[in-house]
Amino acid sequence: MANTMRGSRMGTTSYETDGGLFAPRALTTYVCDQGHQVTMPFSAEADEIPDSWPCACGATGMLVGAAQNAPVKQKHLRTHWDMLLERRTVKDLEGLLKERLEVLRRPRKSA
Ligand SMILES: [Zn+2]
Repeated sequence: MANTMRGSRMGTTSYETDGGLFAPRALTTYVCDQGHQVTMPFSAEADEIPDSWPCACGATGMLVGAAQNAPVKQKHLRTHWDMLLERRTVKDLEGLLKERLEVLRRPRKSA
């Protein structure tokens, strides 16, 4: 058995926040089961603010204050992304992606 180093450092996940430079941004806070807070600057005009956000620890951060506005939903609504993260780390996924891209880029052998 090899020593498995579990990288559970915060902030290793890079979230892409694009398009936020022009529109006014509202800070949206998510809190995960572990009590971590993730604050995302969503555009105030975009009404596609998700109810949950994947926390860097792998748990799902729930939108703070969503309970008041949103109709009653399942509290632990897991997205495909959440389920994926339960099986794979982001690092794993990046590796897999790289692997697949290499396969795709490889010239096909004539079969
Ligand atoms: Zn967390």
